[in-house]
Amino acid sequence: MSNVLFVSSEAFPLIKTGGLGDVAGSLPSALLKQAQDVRLLLPAYPDVLKNTTKKKILAKSSYYYLDVELIESRLPGTNVTVLLVNCPAAFDRPGGPYSNQFGREWDDNALRFAIFCHAAVDIALNKLNLNWQPDIVHCNDWQSGLIPALLSLHKKRPATVFTIHNLAYQGVFEQSTFADLHLPGELWHMDGVEYYNQLSFIKAGLAYADKITAVSPTYAKEILEPEYAYGLDGLLSHRKQHLSGILNGIDEKHWNPGTDNYLAQKYNRRSLAKKSINKTALQKELSLPINQDIPMIGMVSRLVEQKGFDIILQALKEILKMPLQLVILGTGESHYELKLCEFEKQHPENFKIVVGYNEALAHRIEAASDMYLMPSTFEPCGLNQLYSLRYGTLPIVTAVGGLADTVINASEENIRNTTANGFVLKNKSSSELLNCIKNALSLYQTPEIWQQLQVTAMSGDFSWEASAKSYVALYQEAIKEI
Ligand code: ADP
Repeated sequence: MSNVLFVSSEAFPLIKTGGLGDVAGSLPSALLKQAQDVRLLLPAYPDVLKNTTKKKILAKSSYYYLDVELIESRLPGTNVTVLLVNCPAAFDRPGGPYSNQFGREWDDNALRFAIFCHAAVDIALNKLNLNWQPDIVHCNDWQSGLIPALLSLHKKRPATVFTIHNLAYQGVFEQSTFADLHLPGELWHMDGVEYYNQLSFIKAGLAYADKITAVSPTYAKEILEPEYAYGLDGLLSHRKQHLSGILNGIDEKHWNPGTDNYLAQKYNRRSLAKKSINKTALQKELSLPINQDIPMIGMVSRLVEQKGFDIILQALKEILKMPLQLVILGTGESHYELKLCEFEKQHPENFKIVVGYNEALAHRIEAASDMYLMPSTFEPCGLNQLYSLRYGTLPIVTAVGGLADTVINASEENIRNTTANGFVLKNKSSSELLNCIKNALSLYQTPEIWQQLQVTAMSGDFSWEASAKSYVALYQEAIKEI
């Protein structure tokens, strides 16, 4: 058994902006089941403080002359102990974890997450007298990047693992930030935290962690190539022998069509006929024409380039000429929101865009749709295609990252050998997207084949158990090697 400090800037159900929140909300529980003593470290944002109970102050400290309390509580719905870094000057404000209510990143993000990292380092080095010290510090994404770098300066320290959930977000700040944060001078060099004369939090994690993981095997390979690495392919290639890919699982308590209380009608692979009740319920909810036979394509996503909105918009006019309904739920870049809203005005009979973040509606869209659109330009793992598979909603995806690892194209051969569970684009173009949708629509007209694809999709094992075991094996290796 190892003691694991799992460090994340978000965790469902307390605070979530994307896939990292889902992972941090469920991997720690899965690690507990593998007999690891896990504590989850989170910033104490207002929503986190509001939604946790039985809080206890464990320690007090101060970083950059700002007072910090370390509060112990529990991740709701689990047995996982959470440790909250309560620094009101950094975290007690309205808006999101990284940006304000208008989507603008907080100006002091470097300071905010440096405080978070210092607290983690003090726990790791047993400076806060918690009576508990980790053997492993498992860091996630740039917000925790300084931790491996700062710990590397100590002889007696826990081993560190750094997981890349999305290399596109790096936490890069101007050079002066390095001095402003009083970071140790020996970290500032080309093989350290310096990134083209700037301070990079993610590079600090990648350069100094004992082990690096990406959230799918294919993404772990892709990020060795310039196209996917945002200038970090050199460093990652150099660290290749310490880099591996471990696929995310899904939280089957929250994402299970057989028990999902958000749905109009629960169903499973033996009662697939009931699935369409969710379609008519959603059509009613969103004021779309009610017709259980019309194929529905769903999408729940951040509205950003990564999720394929450029090729979707190029193809949208043609897509909406087809006999289908398209429903998109998302928030993000306003130019995408505006264009999608324009399309909705022109095609109210078969297109609905709901701008906003809505967990319940996300579940209903997954259950109601027949197909799920995810033509990402890159996808570290992707959770929505996994939820879609679980809900018998066949994903239409590009062959990148975790999408390539989990979706098997409905080619004639794969249908014959019953491995097919979705549709994979041959390239990232709008014409190929149209081809794939046409192919999906034509298979939809053959219910026996469609049902076989759905059953294969729903039978896939995407639980956390296998991934948690892989992480435990990696922890053991890291501990042995330091
Ligand atoms: P990413 O982390 O790149 O955003 P993932 O597919 O890994 O993509 O995870 C996205 C998670 O966020 C999923 O759980 C998805 O359902 C959720 N999500 C994204 N946008 C919304 C939204 N507008 N409303 C509700 N849930 C959303």
